[in-house]
Amino acid sequence: MANTKFIFITGGVTSSLGKGILAASLAKLIQSRGYSVTIQKLDPYLNVDPGTLNPYEHGECFVTDDGAETDLDLGHYERFLNVPTSQANNVTTGRIYQSVINKERKGDYLGKTVQIIPHITDEIKRCIMLLGKKGDYDVVVTEIGGVVGDIESLPFIEAVRQLKWELGNDALCIHLTLVPYLAAAGEIKTKPTQHSVKQLLEIGVQPDILVLRTEHELNLSVRHKVALFCNVDRNSVFESPDARSIYEIPLIFKEQGLDEVVMTKLRLPIKQEPNLELWTSKVERLYNRDRVEKIAVVGKYVELPDAYKSISEALNHAAMVNNVKLDIEWIHSEKVNDANVAELLKDKKAVLVAPGFGHRGIEGKLIATRYARENNIPFLGICLGMQCAVIEFARNVLGLADANSAEFDHATANPVIDIMEQQKSITNMGHTMRLGSYPCKISDKDTNIFRAYGEDLIHERHRHRYEFNDNYLEAMEQKGMIAVGKNPDTDLVEAVEIKGHKWFVGVQFHPEYKSRFETPHPLFVAFVKAAISE
Ligand code: GLN
Repeated sequence: MANTKFIFITGGVTSSLGKGILAASLAKLIQSRGYSVTIQKLDPYLNVDPGTLNPYEHGECFVTDDGAETDLDLGHYERFLNVPTSQANNVTTGRIYQSVINKERKGDYLGKTVQIIPHITDEIKRCIMLLGKKGDYDVVVTEIGGVVGDIESLPFIEAVRQLKWELGNDALCIHLTLVPYLAAAGEIKTKPTQHSVKQLLEIGVQPDILVLRTEHELNLSVRHKVALFCNVDRNSVFESPDARSIYEIPLIFKEQGLDEVVMTKLRLPIKQEPNLELWTSKVERLYNRDRVEKIAVVGKYVELPDAYKSISEALNHAAMVNNVKLDIEWIHSEKVNDANVAELLKDKKAVLVAPGFGHRGIEGKLIATRYARENNIPFLGICLGMQCAVIEFARNVLGLADANSAEFDHATANPVIDIMEQQKSITNMGHTMRLGSYPCKISDKDTNIFRAYGEDLIHERHRHRYEFNDNYLEAMEQKGMIAVGKNPDTDLVEAVEIKGHKWFVGVQFHPEYKSRFETPHPLFVAFVKAAISE
């Protein structure tokens, strides 16, 4: 194909309207018509990446194969498109400024005054065009974070304005806004949308397509009114209603013909009907599951569902394969103690101990882990969850009462989880952990992990600083906690299991990042299967 096509998605009126899901759904539809598509998120905040952000601020940090710490929307993109993203798919204002300032320090601007326009906007344009350059993608969908009118997002919108002008028919802008319903008036209100489009126009961007987020069905006359007031074709106003599941949204937009209008405007040949058979059958299965089982996820950010987005999605995908619905109880690790653990976990079919950083809530995680181990309840420990399994085993089975992670107790005599030599000198927190995809060799076919994956060399993504301390491996294995997976190059322990337990697996990596709607993750599938089997 000659030119890569660029689709920009902006948001208006409020945040949280679902720009990420709109981007992922539209990309899915275009992909299902035989095109290669990728999605990029531009985040207007000044952090260089979300790696240093507290999950309370911005939800989960999603990690890519190449070790980028990115916005959680990239997780949606991967779960929908079933193709991996990379560092190039997430760009923040911080990253843009960092590279412009680095260039300035090197003298690359040859004495010129460095300014937001053109230098910052040029850098933004370069980052957008980069994904189209290699010829890997027919279509690049770029989601602009934030809401039109924010001071922070102005340079991004200016870059969109310039690119739309330069690329002509190869670019278009979709604006997602809210159409509220006023119960007292019994009416749907389009004024906020009109104002939002006006704001876009003030900075020179005429949206080509409008998507109206609404909790009430919109009739044709509302759409036509919006089209007229916003200079948009009548067939280019779509609605985004409440859906039972995010995975239904591509089908809702397909029904309305969003992809066809987008492709026609971009002069992209409509070469085949969308191939969404697997997707549609999975969506149907979402609503046809009678069996419901309870499981527990123990973590310290449970008040905020977005903090564990990939885990809850991976559990959801795995539950579908097992034809069961999971009633997940999100248990706050700070609230678990010896007195209440039995009450909290006794009716749960499985326990998942979540990843995390810092000491807060650790004791609760250890108590929940011990309960699952002693009561033969299927257990999955992810990253810090695996480290908890190791600490708990060392304390209560090996009898090392002060066993701990060096992360929580520098002075412990028994650092069963310890920092690597090369990590010790690090003082910068951003992008300095063990990040991204690493291989893991599974040692034995008679393990839960081998049965799950069906292969002995796997690749999973990491995000941690501390590691299993090899000095304790022999003692652990003698008592039944086995290192079943190791990094073949460094010998670092990547996965542990407990012999004789119904299903007890701890993994240093994050399998949740690689679970997709169409291809659920084998380890989660096996975990749920163990949970529901008698
Ligand atoms: N805090 C632990 C470490 O840095 C675990 C990190 C995690 O769970 N992602 O090693």
